[in-house]
Amino acid sequence: MRGTWRVGIVLVAIACALCVVWADDQPQVTVHDKGMKTSAARWECTPGHEIHRQQISLASGARSYTIQVQGCFDPSHGAQHPCNEGLFGMPSPTRANWYAAGFMKVLVNGVDAVLYQDAAPRVMETGERGVVQFQWAHPAAEVGLRLMMLPGGSCLLADLQWRPREGQTVETVALALTCYPSYFTTANQRTGDRHCMTPRIDESEGHALDMVPGEDTWLYYYDTVFDMANGEGDGPCGALLAPAGVNGGRVSIGGYAVSTTINLDPGAGEARVGFYDFTGMTNAEAEKYMQQQALTDLAQLTETNFRPAPVREFDLAAFTAETNRLLEAAGEDGAALRPEVEELLARVAELKPAADAGDWAAEAELAGMLQTSADTFWKLKAFAVLNG
Ligand SMILES: [Zn+2]
Repeated sequence: MRGTWRVGIVLVAIACALCVVWADDQPQVTVHDKGMKTSAARWECTPGHEIHRQQISLASGARSYTIQVQGCFDPSHGAQHPCNEGLFGMPSPTRANWYAAGFMKVLVNGVDAVLYQDAAPRVMETGERGVVQFQWAHPAAEVGLRLMMLPGGSCLLADLQWRPREGQTVETVALALTCYPSYFTTANQRTGDRHCMTPRIDESEGHALDMVPGEDTWLYYYDTVFDMANGEGDGPCGALLAPAGVNGGRVSIGGYAVSTTINLDPGAGEARVGFYDFTGMTNAEAEKYMQQQALTDLAQLTETNFRPAPVREFDLAAFTAETNRLLEAAGEDGAALRPEVEELLARVAELKPAADAGDWAAEAELAGMLQTSADTFWKLKAFAVLNG
């Protein structure tokens, strides 16, 4: 008996050592939800209205991005949650570039879906990948966005989906993006020299760049004055654009804001884009990155399945059979767990087909359940072994 224990302790020690080595070797994505904060509106809406603000950061090891969603939750606005400052922003790595207070609108029939914040942002995955999900209850369509970072990645990958509601028609879908490359020129009474470069063309300030779908797959936004090589600005930014579902678009290169409109095919139901903030890099370094790496990132953006693997690979029939076998094997020891396990089985059986049909709320709930129920199943398995 004493020998068996000793072998056991040695095995546990080896396992722990392997875990430490494994954890060190595997690059991880850290997702941090800073939680929802409320404050009384000042300039954001009617003074005294309640503003909700939530920040979530994703860190890949190479780059870290913080997303901020905000809106006014005063009942007088009905289903909309407006905010004069903007709704969907990127406050770090810098407030410039993809604008801190609001850099993205998802215009469905001309109305920003982000106004209709439905569920709170949800962290779907952390570790091997980092994924955050946003859902918006636009009157014409259910709209969802998933942001993902891969270990060591520089790009914030985005999957946008929209599904028309019953009896509703989605006539137009467009992304309206706002960036201030490297520096807030006008606000600081400075003059820069903005540019937007794609694989096809380089266009300068004061002009519009009409995008050629399928060719302008990356966009690199920079300012030749506010270049870290000159000791000015924070560094440039960029975007990726997967060709599927894109009808065209235009970049209006202003001296202050640079506005990018991407027109999507309303019937496609999905589009994929990516965002870069090259804070800390010179223009030359960032341009080199785009020229050499953007197409690799684009392939990742196109090929990556944004659904959480545990849900996607979840086999309901096998899970049900195994759970019933364990309940049987656990005998009387498992009796106390039975009501909880049976309730879980019933809910999972409802959620899995809904998740497979594209219901993101169901997918998020199922992903959460599979994670939180792990403890219960460990206990059930232990009882089954003890009884076996
Ligand atoms: Zn308000």
